Amino acid sequence: MTLSLPGKELSAAIRASITGGARLAVVVATEDEAALWYVRSIAKAAAAVGIACDIVEPAPEADEIRAALERLSADPGVHGVMLQTPLPAGARLQDLASAIDPAKDVDGANPLSLGRLAAGLPAFAPATAGAVMALLDHYEVPLEGRRAVVVGRSTVVGKPLAHLLLDRNATVTVCHSRTRDLPSVTAEADVLVAAVGRAGMIGAEHVKPGAIVIDVGTNPTPEGGLTGDVDAAAVEGRAGGLTPVPGGVGPVTTAVLLRNVSLAAT
Ligand code: NDP
Repeated sequence: MTLSLPGKELSAAIRASITGGARLAVVVATEDEAALWYVRSIAKAAAAVGIACDIVEPAPEADEIRAALERLSADPGVHGVMLQTPLPAGARLQDLASAIDPAKDVDGANPLSLGRLAAGLPAFAPATAGAVMALLDHYEVPLEGRRAVVVGRSTVVGKPLAHLLLDRNATVTVCHSRTRDLPSVTAEADVLVAAVGRAGMIGAEHVKPGAIVIDVGTNPTPEGGLTGDVDAAAVEGRAGGLTPVPGGVGPVTTAVLLRNVSLAAT
């Protein structure tokens, strides 16, 4: 049987540990519906734990976005600064996020934060990568000496996660769209993380019997719902545990983000 590894209880525990009083600013320069929904959910969750959340909407031009990030980074009343993606044409996250003060970079978007993470120095990791680690710890999944395979190498999920897993003494492999014979690599994993954005692409052949599978993927369904990168029906009975989508990594990500804001304020 495959254990379901939901994020609800962990998310609630993280939120309960947060001290209020901090202020987060989310810079939004997109009209993407899913992104706006996510920002609204952050604001709602922030309010529930006593964190003020300002939604700042600069004109959708790179210079204007950069100016907003610089102004908020310099504002002593703002503890966390986040830039919501997707960005308008002509604006790139890796260029603009360098304007976020690393001390306020609660979603680990500044390339300096990733560099510090890679160097084993204290830094905020992107909240999603932090959420995967929090889930693995919550469910007491052993990492030391284990094979961990991350499918996806984005700077938001795959790369920071690889560093976090390495710090915990896992033996880490990162796969991507050019990886040859993906199933033969992922089937070596004791811990498999799927962060691709392709519904149901991880099937039984990708999973070692008993492996813990963390599904980061959030793919819209025709019915207006969400589904993961893992074909849950196909891996049922083969995986040892699987995070559901929705209700797995997603709620923990928001909680980790807010915890980062509260840490940035201390
Ligand atoms: P990106 O599109 O930035 O990265 C996707 C990665 O998947 C790339 O590294 C790409 O490889 C790799 N990839 C694409 N196709 C394949 C394939 N056939 N085989 C193996 N690897 C492949 O996505 P993100 O990292 O931003 O997001 C990944 C997923 O996670 C999405 O579904 C997103 O919605 C979700 N997500 C969920 C969050 C949450 O809180 N639950 C937060 C953030 C993201 P290459 O580099 O070679 O192109």
